[in-house]
Amino acid sequence: MKKRVVTDSMIGLDMPDIDRWSERVTVVLGQNPGMFTGPGTNTYIIGTGSHPLLVDTGQGMDAYMPLLRQAMQEHGAEGLSGIVLTHAHPDHIGGVAHIQSEYGAVSVSKKPWPELDGDVEITVLDDEDVVTTEGATLQAIHTPGHAKDHLCYFVPEDEALITGDVVLGAGTTVIPPDGDLGDYIRSLHRLLDFDAKVIYPAHGPCIRNPREKIEEYLQHRQLREDQIIDGLEAGLETIPDLVKRMYTDVPEFLHHAAGMSVDAHLRKLLREERVARDGDRWWLSK
Ligand SMILES: [Zn+2]
Repeated sequence: MKKRVVTDSMIGLDMPDIDRWSERVTVVLGQNPGMFTGPGTNTYIIGTGSHPLLVDTGQGMDAYMPLLRQAMQEHGAEGLSGIVLTHAHPDHIGGVAHIQSEYGAVSVSKKPWPELDGDVEITVLDDEDVVTTEGATLQAIHTPGHAKDHLCYFVPEDEALITGDVVLGAGTTVIPPDGDLGDYIRSLHRLLDFDAKVIYPAHGPCIRNPREKIEEYLQHRQLREDQIIDGLEAGLETIPDLVKRMYTDVPEFLHHAAGMSVDAHLRKLLREERVARDGDRWWLSK
């Protein structure tokens, strides 16, 4: 039985703290490495002028600010024209206050999610809105699934997609309990339409084969769905039992995350009326 489509992982992945990925893009690591963040959150200085944009802000780690200062200098930037966020998860929005205290009260643009935006004052962005700075254009693409406020950005000057947590440099993304796998799969299909040459993800290295990577992500989810249907057909009823059957090649400490993924698939199948549930027990609909 085929076990996996996506075979790489964030674990142990090493990246430089500051790296230049194009004439207009410098990436600075948020200094928040971890199980779900890999080497940490990528924050992007984007533009060719004296006041570029910053996409995502990391988590507000003290070690980040000296690196951002250094990277801004190497990028030839004197200040920021604004902050643009992919979504409101804490490892993306968490550095806003630090950055504003260093670079002034620059605007923070994102699709609002009041419950998670906290006290950050938001300049509203929505699907197809555009943010510009000298040398770069960011076209917002609403890509819910991982998070309902999630925006990816197409940067035509680099033929690049900034994918936030929708497509990662290694491994697969988590669909949390308040996420929606059906939306997520539709978001991946939408990203395919842009025919980008490169992906700048929120975690991990840049991706030079976007189409292949996105198609691999879609195949991965299809494989997991097939495995869940197989497991239910074989009479398994609970998420832990399905995880044990499906993730034999994944270390036990990742089984909680795997369970979240199985749960996301089951909720999608439930909405499609292909499975039914009673509490923790699941079965195939007749
Ligand atoms: Zn996230």
